[in-house]
Amino acid sequence: MKYIDDPFQFNHDSAGPFFHIERWEKQFSGLIAGISTRTSGISKKIDKPLNMNPFMENIGINWKSWSCANQVHGTEVGIVQHNSPMNQPLGEMDGLITSEKGILLTALFADCVPLFFLDPEKEVIGLAHAGWRGTVKNMAGKMVREMTNHFQSKPDQIRAVIGPSIGICCYEVSDEVVEAVYSILSTDREDQWNIKKENGKCHINLQEINHLIMLKEGILPHHIEVTSYCTSCQNSLFYSYRKEKGTTGRQVAFMGWQE
Ligand SMILES: [Zn+2]
Repeated sequence: MKYIDDPFQFNHDSAGPFFHIERWEKQFSGLIAGISTRTSGISKKIDKPLNMNPFMENIGINWKSWSCANQVHGTEVGIVQHNSPMNQPLGEMDGLITSEKGILLTALFADCVPLFFLDPEKEVIGLAHAGWRGTVKNMAGKMVREMTNHFQSKPDQIRAVIGPSIGICCYEVSDEVVEAVYSILSTDREDQWNIKKENGKCHINLQEINHLIMLKEGILPHHIEVTSYCTSCQNSLFYSYRKEKGTTGRQVAFMGWQE
């Protein structure tokens, strides 16, 4: 099943079957942003950045430089420049930002939430990884503030897209996670929207919690788009750590300005 109005549109181009953030790519010349699928012709063995070289050949775009990090469910953010080490993990961090052309930011996912940021005025882009830990540590807010501090981005100029990840339908969580989520939601209404009980088990909506955080950071409502794809429900399209009980590949999210 594919959603016709989703920010992520399936593309069978020469690069293979990828989801692209089509509206952004059409509107902002030179921007490439999207995420691979399980049929993108990438080895199922991709579960850490070092296996990414074959992917970069598959993407079909001649990127001299790609950047990634060892993702640790934290909120460290790296500012990537041409003199940064390329084609290898930059260190332990979960967010990457750049304003330089020709650098493809990448991150790996299999249920956690990919957060894409774009400031078209300053031509700054950012890609972040937020599972429940990163979400409750306010990874989304950290990205906005790093863009503001380093590049003078204004929150009301920043666009954001929340990518394919495990939905509230499938994301049953422990009491520890529910408690952590309550700590960042500030009203009963926010609780009701984002934490649901089904058969005595709690489910949380990580996509919407990140959406809410972005609004609180000053991103405008019409500048945020949220995918309808759940990696667990749409397991024929995406790898899902939860659905496949931990033995799975990874989606590669990517974002860059072509030179
Ligand atoms: Zn689902």
